[in-house]
Amino acid sequence: MPNSKLLFMIKADAYGHGIINITKYAHEECQVEEFGCATLGEALRLRKNLSDLEIEVYVFSDTDLASQISRREYIDKRILPVISSLDDLEMVLDDKEMLHLPLVLKFNTGMNRLGIKVENKDNVLRLLKKHQRQKIHHLMTHFASSFRSQEVTASIAKQAQAFNELKNFFLNSGLKIEKTSLSNSGAIEQQLGGDETHIRPGLMLYGPSSMLPKTKLKTSWKGLNISNLEVGIIRKDRINKGEPIGYGETPAPKDGVLVYVAIGYGDGFLTQYSGFVCQHKGHHGSVVGRISMDLTAILFPLKAEADLKVGECISLWSEDCSAIIDLCKISKSIPYQVFTALNERVPRVYQWN
Ligand SMILES: *Cc1c(COP(=O)(O)O)cnc(C)c1O
Repeated sequence: MPNSKLLFMIKADAYGHGIINITKYAHEECQVEEFGCATLGEALRLRKNLSDLEIEVYVFSDTDLASQISRREYIDKRILPVISSLDDLEMVLDDKEMLHLPLVLKFNTGMNRLGIKVENKDNVLRLLKKHQRQKIHHLMTHFASSFRSQEVTASIAKQAQAFNELKNFFLNSGLKIEKTSLSNSGAIEQQLGGDETHIRPGLMLYGPSSMLPKTKLKTSWKGLNISNLEVGIIRKDRINKGEPIGYGETPAPKDGVLVYVAIGYGDGFLTQYSGFVCQHKGHHGSVVGRISMDLTAILFPLKAEADLKVGECISLWSEDCSAIIDLCKISKSIPYQVFTALNERVPRVYQWN
């Protein structure tokens, strides 16, 4: 997408990776200038912690525009609310303090989540004219199913078409539109939205593809995970086939070396991950039995014994995204959820040169 600029989505604590450090890195090392949060609270946190960064910050979902206190924050902290309903638009236009707020309008072209309904475009135009607003700072919409191939999902083309018509409607009505965007990761992976001024990737910039693994269309995205989940071995024992393991006494499926690593569902390493296979120094280990709040049992073959040491770390996922895909398969989940499930009990360590 050589002609589009990035509006990097960093909602939900940068997909669990830590909003402050990720934003700092993306801006300072990758020259990203625009960032998307979900809530006003996230945006305020960014402004507070990175007050010297010259970045544009958007709030996409929980804008809280009905509150005058929140509306003040947008002005004072130079944050852009994404206006997603007629009510919010009226609220903003009627507020004299927001007279110079750049207007970001998100339309619902078929997802029926947030967004101003397309059929209300005349009302939007009337309101803008009434308030002598000649410019839309950023016009956007959001795909409902871009994680599926556009060959099987007619809604992708339909939404793109509706967005195009909308754009032309406002342009033909004499309004200026400074920025436009519609593509999230799945759409970008399918080469959609490159004609707009902006693209809005989230997941793909953290590594994984957002297209369903079973989708027919093979994604061109070969991202590397930006995170590596390492956990310490705190216990190691031999175990015989049939001996009980942990809560519920799951019988060991074979003889082997059982290690306990210091992570569990209390950290966001979910009970559904039981059965996940990890790799350590060339050996395969399976998560066995019930994952407990702060401990997970991994069974390795006996030949791995010398390569497993208490105090050392095992990597549960690393650069290669295949471990994330496996975790998703085993838990019927999606990479978004695997990432954001990890909570603050897991210390984040940042390294870049
Ligand atoms: C989360 C989000 C994105 C990014 O989605 P990914 O699938 O992570 O790329 C883009 N636009 C909007 C409106 C979003 O809410």
